[in-house]
Amino acid sequence: MGFATDTIHAGQQPDPTTGAVTVPIYQTSTYVQEGLGKHKGFEYARTHNPTRAALENNVAALEKGVGGCAFASGMAAIHATVTTLLKAGDHVVVSDNTYGGTFRLFDKILKNFGLEFSYVDASDTSVVAAAIQPNTRMVFLETPTNPVMRLCDIQAIAALARPKGIHVVVDNTFMSPYLQRPIELGADIVVHSTTKYLNGHSDSVGGVVVVTDPDVHARLLYVQNAAGAILSPFDSWLTLRGIKTLAVRMKQHDENGRAIAKYLDEHPKISTLYYPGLPTHPQFELANRQMTGFGAMIAFDVGSAAQARIVLEGVKVFALAESLGGVESLICHPASMTHASVPESERERLGITEGLVRLSVGIEDLEDLLADLDHVLEKL
Ligand SMILES: *Cc1c(COP(=O)(O)O)cnc(C)c1O
Repeated sequence: MGFATDTIHAGQQPDPTTGAVTVPIYQTSTYVQEGLGKHKGFEYARTHNPTRAALENNVAALEKGVGGCAFASGMAAIHATVTTLLKAGDHVVVSDNTYGGTFRLFDKILKNFGLEFSYVDASDTSVVAAAIQPNTRMVFLETPTNPVMRLCDIQAIAALARPKGIHVVVDNTFMSPYLQRPIELGADIVVHSTTKYLNGHSDSVGGVVVVTDPDVHARLLYVQNAAGAILSPFDSWLTLRGIKTLAVRMKQHDENGRAIAKYLDEHPKISTLYYPGLPTHPQFELANRQMTGFGAMIAFDVGSAAQARIVLEGVKVFALAESLGGVESLICHPASMTHASVPESERERLGITEGLVRLSVGIEDLEDLLADLDHVLEKL
């Protein structure tokens, strides 16, 4: 089936008792057993829930994996991935400006359990190759990165890691499977914060992991049940519902993103623009090869904190908020919001200046978004 058909149907059947078209919210903690040891495969809802299973099967189909596991947040999904695959003494190569919460989990928590992490500029495949040690068991990639939209070559990195038995994990939150499918490029595992584009309506927090190896899936299900950070039935249902429009939403996000990036690129007040869909992006060729669109995350520099404040506080359609990937357009100041926990020297090195502004372009009318930006950039 095609992608849009799968978003609507994969993993879902009409409800067997009523024929309801939509998978019900199985809001139950336990299941009646017909006799001792006689049940339909459902005993307790941490272990099994039909609404959650429908979502897991749906996202697995979209990412072309063999199975999925849904968690209470994107961070819980990443935590479960690491604890499923690694043990004390193992080493992980991580792309350097990875999501702040991922860095915090690795550096402040998992490091204390005997795991080692190296943060490297994964936009250069040879740097990843050089960082691999005898005890490296995982490469954790995010592409494009947040907020400076640096890419890494999933196919090339997978080609060098897989023969060594190193798991390649890609956080695909920014692109969604509509625009980028890491498993088709050779990755073993995809993780998502479903909070962003998959759910797409800024009304649920969740995460999902999709795997390519049935044994890894079994282990991940075991960890999901044992550690217990499951996605609730209602959040599973919301996310399933959100995904039904993923293809049409992403198409519009991408279209609005292209137009706004073009407008910003031509604007005299903007010095630096971070967006992979312009020929001026240093990895434009890779973006075209690896993604089927460029998404709707755009960052630009207006020169100073004071200038940034004028933009951030002056817009009316864009809402000043953290997060991304919803139907509504958001604007944020990475240096003081999403990346405040990153040390200043590191922020500088990554290009996260005081004047940097990040957009998550929504699917409102393009004319309204352009007028909003035009009106505020005039004041600079
Ligand atoms: C938001 C986000 C996460 C964390 O997800 P939560 O649902 O907030 O826990 C991980 N990776 C990326 C790229 C994100 O944007």
